[in-house]
Amino acid sequence: MPGIGALGPDALDLSVDDLGARLTGNTGRIKTVLTDQTVIAGIGNAYSDEILHAARISPFATAGKLTDLQLTALHDAMVSVLTDAVTRSVGQKAAMLKGEKRSGLRVHGRTGLPCPVCGDIVREVSFADKSFQYCPCCQTGGKVLADRRMSRLLK
Ligand SMILES: [Zn+2]
Repeated sequence: MPGIGALGPDALDLSVDDLGARLTGNTGRIKTVLTDQTVIAGIGNAYSDEILHAARISPFATAGKLTDLQLTALHDAMVSVLTDAVTRSVGQKAAMLKGEKRSGLRVHGRTGLPCPVCGDIVREVSFADKSFQYCPCCQTGGKVLADRRMSRLLK
């Protein structure tokens, strides 16, 4: 039994079945669960945005209720996004990593810019201390998720 605060398995070590098993019964939002290092280790805020975008899954989807199709898409996206990130960082000087990491992002940190896949505007949901980005067209069937700060700004 893992102790409290123990790290989950590394994201790149998980098979689709492993991933499904980690998420089964989890009633949290997939965005939150993906970045929970006790569930899966190695996925931060930026890459979870990218993974969900590539998998075309809403950040607010319930982790334990993904369909088999979504689970497979999530796993594929997790592997490709994280592998790309590693490939890009190989041979880079530490000082360049941040810029290099940013250049590969499709939705994270791109609020208000067009989605490179469909051209819809990338949206943001913000909390007290952090925010995340997603594409409504690719991920939520065009539905814009509630975000109090954004609606205040847009008035
Ligand atoms: Zn899109």
